[in-house]
Amino acid sequence: MKRVKLYDKEFTISIRHDQIQTAIGTVAQQIREDMKEENIPVFLSVLNGAFMFTSDLLKQMDFNCEVSFVKLSSYSGTSSTGNVKELLGLNTDIGGRTVIIVEDIVDTGHTLVELFKILQQYNPKQIKVATFLLKPDAYDKDIPIDYVGLRIPNDFIVGYGLDYNEIGRNLRNIYKICPPEK
Ligand code: 5GP
Ligand code: MG
Repeated sequence: MKRVKLYDKEFTISIRHDQIQTAIGTVAQQIREDMKEENIPVFLSVLNGAFMFTSDLLKQMDFNCEVSFVKLSSYSGTSSTGNVKELLGLNTDIGGRTVIIVEDIVDTGHTLVELFKILQQYNPKQIKVATFLLKPDAYDKDIPIDYVGLRIPNDFIVGYGLDYNEIGRNLRNIYKICPPEK
């Protein structure tokens, strides 16, 4: 599909499924290389958006690892609301361990900063960050993003786990929002 309509908004294709898979292959290789000496790292997948990326990424890991799904919701509609809630679902002990945060997208980085602060309280050995998408023009925080699938402009996008008011997560390609018609 070249275009999709979600509620009142039109979206046009931006990143095809095969381009997504190629980008994930590159990230997966970097993580395998960095993690081969680590003792059972734990991937923390940030729901809901990261579920597809997590699934494709984890299938390419060839070492013993755990995955845990956490939730930290902060976003509704098409702009970041800026207030982040508590962390839900952390059901594994991360003390002294290597943690890899798995995110769908890092925009301003506000969510990441909040998550980082919470996780540090559990004294992990180290925290790495893997995001499928990064908006470099919006990101203005200091936390290093260790693994990035693709860098994208500041457009609002959907698909491959990312939603518009909770729909569109199922789309296999990534679509960007079309400007409103004049
Ligand atoms: P940040 O806190 O980095 O500004 O934003 C993080 C969250 O905002 C992401 O986890 C994601 O849920 C949401 N977000 C940021 N940009 C987009 C976008 O272009 N499309 C969608 N669907 N969500 C986005
Ligand atoms: Mg997210």
